[in-house]
Amino acid sequence: RTVYLNGAWLAEADAHVSIFDRGFLFADAIYEVTGVVNGKLLEYEGHSARLQRSMGELGLVCPLSPEELLGVHREIVQRNALSEGLIYLQISRGPADRDFAFPANPVPTLVLFTQAKAVLDNPKARTGISVALLPDLRWARCDIKTVQLLYPSMAKMEAARQGADDAWLVEEGFVTEASSASAHIITSDGVLVTRPLSQAILHGITRHSVLDLATTIGVAVEERPFSVEEAKTAAEAFITSATNFVLPVTQIDGQLIGDGQPGPLTLRLRELYIERKIASAI
Ligand code: PLP
Repeated sequence: RTVYLNGAWLAEADAHVSIFDRGFLFADAIYEVTGVVNGKLLEYEGHSARLQRSMGELGLVCPLSPEELLGVHREIVQRNALSEGLIYLQISRGPADRDFAFPANPVPTLVLFTQAKAVLDNPKARTGISVALLPDLRWARCDIKTVQLLYPSMAKMEAARQGADDAWLVEEGFVTEASSASAHIITSDGVLVTRPLSQAILHGITRHSVLDLATTIGVAVEERPFSVEEAKTAAEAFITSATNFVLPVTQIDGQLIGDGQPGPLTLRLRELYIERKIASAI
């Protein structure tokens, strides 16, 4: 792969970052993941806006303008002949003598790389995934997309140990989100219920579009916290993320959701979401 590092295009084996980089020492870095289909960027505007927001919250300054950053996204797709998969972008506060305080004149480290992946034809879209319920032990600013991903990694490992595909995180009896996706349910009355935006969850770009889409096709949307009990007895459940799009959840803590098959509304939202986002990809 050809990767991008601070203005240079390099073979991945030649791309090196300092051991003093604050991303490495303090997880002082933010990231974005943008889906790619047919060599085009999905939901780029949303990811770009959230990137700016994350940087603003941490006082990070991107060395490139938004236009230059879009150019780098396009170029990395071309250089890697990427048809389907994702672009990972990370900005850290850069190298500095180890000190908890931010350096006075940081030189950020900007990295982009691609991952080729069949995101459209996902076998899990046909079967659904199982999730284990685990306590949400992350920090209190989950709205900032930082690379501080140790707990989500631990949660995925624990879910796998329990034989589940992923984890849904729980705070005070209510689901916050999945380990790396937004969590949603559909009630027996056909209402899409999803936790409202706050500092407790990442403001999912896919979540936003899917809520819009649901409203457009006449599905009632309620943004409110939902409990573990509501989740387990929901008619349908699903997750959303940049590379999973809309993915059915068919089992929660061993409890089958509905008849244990991907829900019809979930599958409709998946189909429509993919169709629309491919049509508007840039
Ligand atoms: N929530 C968490 C914790 C995430 O890591 C992600 C990232 O994929 C999401 C939600 C979904 O966000 P998006 O739809 O912007 O990919």
